[in-house]
Amino acid sequence: MYSRTGETVVDITTPPDPAKIVHIARDRFEEGKTKPIKFRKKQLNNLVKFVQDNEDAILEALYQDFRKPKQEVVCYEIVPVVKEAKHAINHLEEWAKPEKPKKSLVNLLDGVMVYNDPFGVVLVMGAWNYPLALVLMPVIGAIAAGNCVVIKPSDLSPATSQLMYKLLPNYLDPECYPVYQGGVKETTELLKEKFDYIFYTGSTSVGQIVHKAANRHLTPVTLELGGKSPAYIDNSADITKTVKRILWGKCINSGQTCIAPDYILCTKEVQDKFVKYAEKALLEFYGSDIKDSNDYSRIITDRHFERLVNLLPGLKIAVGGRYEQKDRFIEPTIAIDVNPNHAIMQEEIFGPILPIIPINNIDEAITFINRRNKPLALYIFSTRKQDREKLLSKTSSGGVCVNDTILHASVDVLPFGGVGTSGMGSYHGKKTFDTFTHKKSVLVRDFQAIPEKIMASRYPPYSNSKISL
Ligand code: NAD
Repeated sequence: MYSRTGETVVDITTPPDPAKIVHIARDRFEEGKTKPIKFRKKQLNNLVKFVQDNEDAILEALYQDFRKPKQEVVCYEIVPVVKEAKHAINHLEEWAKPEKPKKSLVNLLDGVMVYNDPFGVVLVMGAWNYPLALVLMPVIGAIAAGNCVVIKPSDLSPATSQLMYKLLPNYLDPECYPVYQGGVKETTELLKEKFDYIFYTGSTSVGQIVHKAANRHLTPVTLELGGKSPAYIDNSADITKTVKRILWGKCINSGQTCIAPDYILCTKEVQDKFVKYAEKALLEFYGSDIKDSNDYSRIITDRHFERLVNLLPGLKIAVGGRYEQKDRFIEPTIAIDVNPNHAIMQEEIFGPILPIIPINNIDEAITFINRRNKPLALYIFSTRKQDREKLLSKTSSGGVCVNDTILHASVDVLPFGGVGTSGMGSYHGKKTFDTFTHKKSVLVRDFQAIPEKIMASRYPPYSNSKISL
């Protein structure tokens, strides 16, 4: 049974006791249950099985939450989770074994190693927009590294959260990897507990709350946050491909993607061409009435719908602009000649509205980007190598994708994360394992190998002869 309080939906059948959950997980960790490689691999294999066995239920839950289309669930939730888990399983022995860094002459006779230790009991808090992947991808790294994990899905995607709460315990050890559900009240209680690491994905403002709570116990954190990710287009770019690639990145999940292009910077000439091809591209993507398309999701809650609709007044809308409260539908909307002081340019949009800010040249674009918070992603559409390098070297962002959108996040050898207000820390592939691993430096010295006479120079009494270089 669910109770709706405002827009937060909480499972009230099992009131959670965070202290108990964390206490049990800590006991299991201290017993060493999660450390053997065999145990970690079994859990990771079970996680793959959870996703594969329950594909239909996952599709249904995400449809219920916000009509997420099947292809988007398969490509951006299910496949990345399975791929990431299999990658960890295949590399686990190699990642977990002690590293032996190259020694200098001074330590030639010593053992010099870096042990890959799990932190202990970690907390993973996910966001609602990719409610399966944003929870399970970090969980995979945390399990692989040998930690116990308290798994906290988002309350704004209640069907997916409930699915994980109900089914994950059939696959993962429920004491080592408990699922904790809840909204602000329950999460506030959970954050009072002492964790050994916290991995949070969500808004910058809640990230600050999490950071503050973690600081009370000096708990290290990864914060995967958001921000306004710009797309710069110059007149050398292939405009038809640019339009399609930007609109694809903006329209998946109805713009509710942390690295969706938030706004465009281009000259008026490029703006005109963009608008001309955008209508055609949207028609190709979604047919004559996007509302009837099964390939376009809805806005997650009434609050977010209202927030987005309230951004529209005062905009010069060139494409789209329709919306319908009943099922929280907003069509892809492009606004031109947007004033940088308009409300739409003050915060991350996180919806299908795309403002274009006309600029005169690349230097204006660089200044525009650098006067704002550091973005999570920067998109550059240009065939001019020198200009691409200029933007790359003169701006700071979590990541960059040139002549496409979103895809840099799918490359497992590229760490994914923000900088400044868009986040701290990163993950994906081995980086996730390293995130949840304490690199413990170990020096092992033999009693016999080095004559004590040589070692004795460090002992008092000190003398100038002992420090003569
Ligand atoms: P959300 O509402 O799902 O919140 C994220 C988590 O924080 C949830 O587990 C939620 O229960 C918890 N939470 C919410 N309010 C809280 C509070 N007051 N105190 C304690 N816990 C609280 O997600 P959101 O914040 O709406 O997510 C959207 C934002 O996340 C966007 O800014 C987006 O850019 C960002 N995001 C970033 C990434 C990334 O990888 N960097 C990925 C997805 C989303």
